[in-house]
Amino acid sequence: MRRRVNPRGFALAALFALGASGCQGAPAGPAPSSAPAPDRQPPVSAPAGAQATDHVPTVDAGYDVTTASSVTVVVTKRRPLEPLDYVPETLVSLAGVPGGDGLYLRSDAADALVRMAADASAAGAGFRVSSGYRSYADQRAQYGQYVAQYGRAYADTISARPGYSEHQTGLTVDLHVTEEDRGSAVFASTAAGVWVAEHADEYGFVESYPQGGQAVTGYRWEPWHLRYVGADVASAMRASGHATLQEFMGVEDSPDYG
Ligand SMILES: [Zn+2]
Repeated sequence: MRRRVNPRGFALAALFALGASGCQGAPAGPAPSSAPAPDRQPPVSAPAGAQATDHVPTVDAGYDVTTASSVTVVVTKRRPLEPLDYVPETLVSLAGVPGGDGLYLRSDAADALVRMAADASAAGAGFRVSSGYRSYADQRAQYGQYVAQYGRAYADTISARPGYSEHQTGLTVDLHVTEEDRGSAVFASTAAGVWVAEHADEYGFVESYPQGGQAVTGYRWEPWHLRYVGADVASAMRASGHATLQEFMGVEDSPDYG
């Protein structure tokens, strides 16, 4: 339930905290008069040697959110992959993970998934993989199928257009336990769903499309869709209280394609 905190409220609180600590850490100087001069305002960035901020990391923190092959790339309806038909360099088989025959991920994400699957299984919360890397052509076919079935407006809330899918990065998996919870919010209440909500960040995975996040992400809740960002980023994101990677990185909301 830690993911349910109000990310904007938390960010605001963190900003206040930063402002306060900046004041306390400022060098002693003449006592300010009733109206401090502009040059006495606390510095916007922390002084050299100060503790790095760990509450509101943004694109300024040095994460590469744009290069398609970056582990921290942010792909949204407003941020397509460049090029649109990007293909990751190294894709490895997920045959060692239940359901993973014929599915692929980048090796860094695959290694983490193998460890997470083993630990989940040992905890009585085993899962199967439904989907991993999807090419531009795969995504075009799947999105087209949803458009034909539901119409474009609804299809856009459950499936990405080709070139706009996190699955095309090779860093994203969909999980399920049985056919009943496959691609369904029911997954969240399975033992596996509960376990990954609590532990996925330890392996470097975050939930891309949280409950109530559609105004930010443009997608309905997908508790089964996990994006690999690396354990450091995943744990920092969780600690920050931001519910989505795009908010954590300070990237604009993407309720639609704009
Ligand atoms: Zn997915």
